[in-house]
Amino acid sequence: MSELIFKEPDEPNPAQDLQSKDKIKVIIADDEEEVHVVTKYVLRDFEYKGRKLEFLSAYSGDETKQLLREHPDASLILLDIVMERDDSGLNVAEFIREGLRNNLIRIILRTGQPGLAPEEEIIVKYDINDYKEKTELTSRKFKTAMTMALRAYADIITIDSFRAILEQEVRVRTAELEEKNRELERLNRELERHATTDALTGTYNRMKFNTLLETEIKRSRRYKRPMSIAMLDIDFFKNINDNFGHAAGDCALREFVEIVSHSIRECDVLARWGGEEFVILFPETTLEETLQVSEKLRQRIETTCFERIGNMTCSFGVTQFSIEDEMETLNKRVDEALYEAKRNGRNTIACK
Ligand code: GH3
Ligand code: MG
Ligand code: MG
Repeated sequence: MSELIFKEPDEPNPAQDLQSKDKIKVIIADDEEEVHVVTKYVLRDFEYKGRKLEFLSAYSGDETKQLLREHPDASLILLDIVMERDDSGLNVAEFIREGLRNNLIRIILRTGQPGLAPEEEIIVKYDINDYKEKTELTSRKFKTAMTMALRAYADIITIDSFRAILEQEVRVRTAELEEKNRELERLNRELERHATTDALTGTYNRMKFNTLLETEIKRSRRYKRPMSIAMLDIDFFKNINDNFGHAAGDCALREFVEIVSHSIRECDVLARWGGEEFVILFPETTLEETLQVSEKLRQRIETTCFERIGNMTCSFGVTQFSIEDEMETLNKRVDEALYEAKRNGRNTIACK
């Protein structure tokens, strides 16, 4: 409906339509020339809010439809019911509301045969403003009907323009809200990432590891499945920092993580425990299998020439989950195993 009027969406106030000095377009649809002549004569001085009328004439249903297509800005149609057919006028009314989807133009039906008054439901369905007999053409009542119809037109335009403005406002606000929501979701993801990962190496941090471990403990206990963990600590890392500088140490830590994460399965969980200490959770894995993968890792690290520092080694503590374990006992035992590996001379694996 609005596109008939709001040709320029940027022009905000089509409500002024009936206040501008343009003439108000009125279509006279009638197959009798005399009716056209009399109507124009009767309404020659008619004004609505200081605006005169401009008449457009059609003599058949088809001509009327053509005029309506060409003048979507017409405010009112004086529509004869019987033209080339008995129901031409009603057919035009249906075309206006359902064909053109023009809900703005006001319709005054007129008939020379008062017996053929349209059904009440037609009046409602096609939003018809009035029904007049042609004998009333010259009467005061006819002009009053004109005024009331044009006032209704102005009201509809005003309401429609407010609705368009409100709809636009809602669209803008909705878009703003959606944008804010997207930003919020992005920040939440960012926050979640910061809270769970280690900034230097990109692995999970200790907090996230413990959360995942907690879940895995429950699962292993419930389904009686094996599960193991390993704790890795780079040997003499302090010396490495001292000899090559802290930045070279950082670089070695990143390379270390790269090597380890590519040597374990996707379902295994690597996390930085702190400093140069890391932990790996091996779901569905026995102690024996964990020892094997730890040995493979130990050798891989031992034989790697790290970019800025050359060689370094790593000690491993490993342990397997047992049914009475809690997170604390498991972490404590693996830490003890690591301590033992250090005591045993480093670059080695100890299990408990
Ligand atoms: P050990 O064989 O007994 O483990 O000896 P270590 O020197 O590796 O252990 P120690 O705990 O004495 O020292 C750990 C060092 O790791 C000291 C600390 O500066 C260094 N370190 C911890 N975090 C970082 C880091 O993020 N970057 C760098 N470059 N060094 C770190
Ligand atoms: Mg160390
Ligand atoms: Mg340490």
